[in-house]
Amino acid sequence: MQLATESRSLDHNMSPSTYAALIDSLFQNPAPLFAGAIMVAGAAVMTALKTEVALLWPCVVFLIASGAARAVDMHWYKTRRSMLTADEAARWEARYQIGAMVYAIALGTWCAVALLFSDDAVAHMICVTVTTGYVAAGAGRTYGRPWIFHVQIALACGPTAIALALKGTPYYIGMAVVSAVFFLALKQISTNLQRIFVQALVAREREAALAGQFDTALNNMPHGLCMFAADGRLAVMNHRFSEMMNLSDDLVQRGAGARDIIAACVSGGSISAASGRMILSEIENTQARDIITADPDIARSRSLSWTFQPMAGGGAVVLLEDITERRNAEARISHLARYDELTALPNRVNFRDEIGRLLAIRHDAEQLSALLFIDLDQFKQVNDTLGHPCGDQLLCAVADRLRAMLRPEDFVARFGGDEFVVFQQNLKSTEEAAVLARRIVEHLSERYKIDNHLVEIGASIGIAMTGPGVSADTLLKNADMALYRAKADGRGTFCFFRDEMAQTVEARRILELDLRKALANEEFELFYQPLVNLKSGRIATCEALLRWNHPVRGTVSPIDIIPVAEDMGLIVDLGRWILRKACMECMKWPDAVSVAVNFSPQQFHQRDVLSEVRYALEVSGLPADRLEIEITESSLLRNTQLTHDVLSQLHALGVRISLDDFGTGYSSLSYLHNFPLQKVKIDRSFLQGIDTDRPLTLLRGVARLSADLGMSVVVEGIETNEQLELISADGTVTEAQGYLFSRPVPAMRVRQLLNASHGRRLPDDQVLVLPSRSIA
Ligand code: C2E
Ligand code: MG
Ligand code: MG
Repeated sequence: MQLATESRSLDHNMSPSTYAALIDSLFQNPAPLFAGAIMVAGAAVMTALKTEVALLWPCVVFLIASGAARAVDMHWYKTRRSMLTADEAARWEARYQIGAMVYAIALGTWCAVALLFSDDAVAHMICVTVTTGYVAAGAGRTYGRPWIFHVQIALACGPTAIALALKGTPYYIGMAVVSAVFFLALKQISTNLQRIFVQALVAREREAALAGQFDTALNNMPHGLCMFAADGRLAVMNHRFSEMMNLSDDLVQRGAGARDIIAACVSGGSISAASGRMILSEIENTQARDIITADPDIARSRSLSWTFQPMAGGGAVVLLEDITERRNAEARISHLARYDELTALPNRVNFRDEIGRLLAIRHDAEQLSALLFIDLDQFKQVNDTLGHPCGDQLLCAVADRLRAMLRPEDFVARFGGDEFVVFQQNLKSTEEAAVLARRIVEHLSERYKIDNHLVEIGASIGIAMTGPGVSADTLLKNADMALYRAKADGRGTFCFFRDEMAQTVEARRILELDLRKALANEEFELFYQPLVNLKSGRIATCEALLRWNHPVRGTVSPIDIIPVAEDMGLIVDLGRWILRKACMECMKWPDAVSVAVNFSPQQFHQRDVLSEVRYALEVSGLPADRLEIEITESSLLRNTQLTHDVLSQLHALGVRISLDDFGTGYSSLSYLHNFPLQKVKIDRSFLQGIDTDRPLTLLRGVARLSADLGMSVVVEGIETNEQLELISADGTVTEAQGYLFSRPVPAMRVRQLLNASHGRRLPDDQVLVLPSRSIA
């Protein structure tokens, strides 16, 4: 019972294949079993003849019958073809067990009968010897299932030992004891044998599983792998390697050498002969981890990387990787790094390198080249109004036009945004550069058709000519300075670099730096200039005008500050400061006086202009109807619908809008009609030659028209009493502004002026310069 339990617990941990192998071991070598059965039958016949005990003949028959049955069973087992499944193994185990037990009973019975029913010593010796021998042989046969063997011992040897003991003589009892010990030893031997056998089976199974895993890993890795033994023979090659190198399986099977394998790769066209030689020498001489890349397969445009790793006991591991995709990606990245993705033109880096190279290989110092820095005018407006996709298409169209205009030896690049650069080589004179620049300006200014929109832009160009020892960077810098001048000259034109531009640019750079600091250091101040109501003679509004008190430059005019601040983008912050400051100052004035604040176009088109105005009113506490915003015509030109909406919203808020400097720009009368404006300020240039008829008629016409449209009319720049008389004669001009009344003055002074104008006490030393005629 215990044996069976032991065996079963072993079976639990046993894999089906180990169990099948154990059962298979029971049926191995049937010949000794048959021979043994025949011998036992012969011995039994001998004992029957020698003792003449009749009972022994049935024992002989039993032994022969059971032996024959086992032989037949063994034979059936051998005729099976398929692998033993777990179920089949259990069935064959049961059959073997029955055969073995029946035979053991026959053997035990025969021995007991021979010992108990005769006193023939020879017969006794025969049966004890045969049983002992048979059982000893069984230990080597049935160790696979030791518990069967143990039952066999009990059934065959048990009756023998008992019969010997029953003989009662001391020698027979001694023999019974010796036999019993011997049988127990055999039992132990069979158990040990089984353990060793099972351990061997399990180890073999583990090894097979490991080999299987290794095989799976090798054949599923993305790299090709070859392992060469110390003698240069191939030890392992995975499918990926043979597939990549187009090799046949027989190479692997016959354990070919490194030379054969590489030769097959070369003859199969997978690698070139030169690469083959290089790879072979690496395999044979590899010392440390080496990596080489071979790219012989031009037809398939394939890039391969070979890695060699020496092994501890000699030989080498070769790893093969297809790096085509990585190479292509690298090529794409390096293309992106050197070309503009949108227009496919070379980019800044590429251009700089190329120009540097061209300048370095110039043999003839006299040879002229020109660098043209092109900037598109109004490109931003296209982007803002039609959207970025249209802007992108426009840039591509510009790039196409530029390409079409150039000779093969010229070089064009996009520097980002709306900046393009052309390098023009082999020129006979600077005039050729001017001709090209003119053509570019003209051609780029022609209309573009983009997504059913007709788009017009312009171009400004700065040109720098090569000279002895001029570097690419200097050329670019010079052309950029010339471009700056071309833009300042009104755009849509070109300009050659001159040395003095460098100084201007430097001065401008310093101005920009100073301006940035100025806002933080509170170097700005607002002056105020009154606008006098011509009927009441009182100050109706004061215009806030920016002043910059620079420690070295002195007081700087807004005409010099505002355009630079606009270019720098500083105008938004500066404008915010001006607006809040002016609103707060106005709170200190009499209720009837408003403040006028100038808004530059860039500031006016910022996204949150409305909330900026609302906030300034809120923090200062100024009622909206005491704020006037002065805009110029250029503010109205951009984004007409949006501008209209913002103006309407400001108007709804209660803020008044003045159109400043009317008469200097387009002077479009349609603006006066289409936008919600409450005031028109006629520029002081109208006053030039006012004493002659025509300008006066014009001024009066505009003033009357504006008044008819319900707007107040202001004339700026009144300096003399004559001018005042002329403009106020027909009563259409409502307000006047100019040095005649007051220059722009600091905040403190304007407060005193206001007190005087509004009938309050004026200190004795303060003079309000208001012409006596106009004061009511
Ligand atoms: P504006 O808005 O037309 O301001 C009137 C300019 O004419 C002022 O020049 C003023 O000093 C000048 N002016 C007034 N009366 C007379 C006169 O009788 N004779 C002469 N010759 N000039 C007179 P200012 O202060 O130099 O400002 C120049 C321009 O700078 C302003 O023209 C305005 O466009 C701009 N600006 C000034 N302050 C600001 C500001 O805070 N923001 C913005 N965006 N622009 C400003
Ligand atoms: Mg103004
Ligand atoms: Mg003005």
